[in-house]
Amino acid sequence: MVITEIFKSIQGEGTRAGLPCVFVRLTGCNLRCVWCDTAYAFYGGRKHTVEEVLERVHALAGDGGSRVSLVEITGGEPLLQPETPALAERLLAAGYTVMIETSGERFVGALPREVIKIVDVKCPDSGESGKFDMANLDVVGPQDEIKFVIASRRDYDFARDFTARHGLAARVGQVLFSPVFPDPEGRWPGLSARELAEWILGDGLPVRLGLQLHKFIWDPAMKGV
Ligand code: SF4
Repeated sequence: MVITEIFKSIQGEGTRAGLPCVFVRLTGCNLRCVWCDTAYAFYGGRKHTVEEVLERVHALAGDGGSRVSLVEITGGEPLLQPETPALAERLLAAGYTVMIETSGERFVGALPREVIKIVDVKCPDSGESGKFDMANLDVVGPQDEIKFVIASRRDYDFARDFTARHGLAARVGQVLFSPVFPDPEGRWPGLSARELAEWILGDGLPVRLGLQLHKFIWDPAMKGV
């Protein structure tokens, strides 16, 4: 597998935000979202066997009572690499709770059922809207989450309508609406969390506002956190 980084941090997103977590960031992505904050994972990386990834995860997670039990496989786009389901299998067998963050463009059905799938639906302002694999809606379940990253009112309207049209609240455990965080180098403006919160409240949507917690804890430009 080609890996950009393996590190321990605080889970920043989703319903497990705030929990210690080991992250395995795979290299490469076939999309180019305008506001991508992990473009450094598009190229490069270092080849590892599944065994080597497991060893590194175990070393970072520690053992005994203080063992970190949550592992997230992310990217880039982790489902581009054929060994990802096998890695997830091995992590589950080792007793970890395993999450995967994916763009939604790839079918998630080849992953073990126990893997918690955080599946994006790209909104228009990402520049990658329309890439979602609709078959994913048939294989996600109550432990999974569908996430919209929202840059504008146009994105919000898209996310709200998609959520209603496909009955997402009944298909997955959580629907997440996350505002785009402003780029530290000023390449994109971001969306105010307050504005998004007010839209959600105004429409009475059954969704969770998601903030990228790690960007409030550390410098938003910092890698490996
Ligand atoms: S899918 Fe994820 S990694 Fe790929 S360009 Fe979009 S935000 Fe970046």
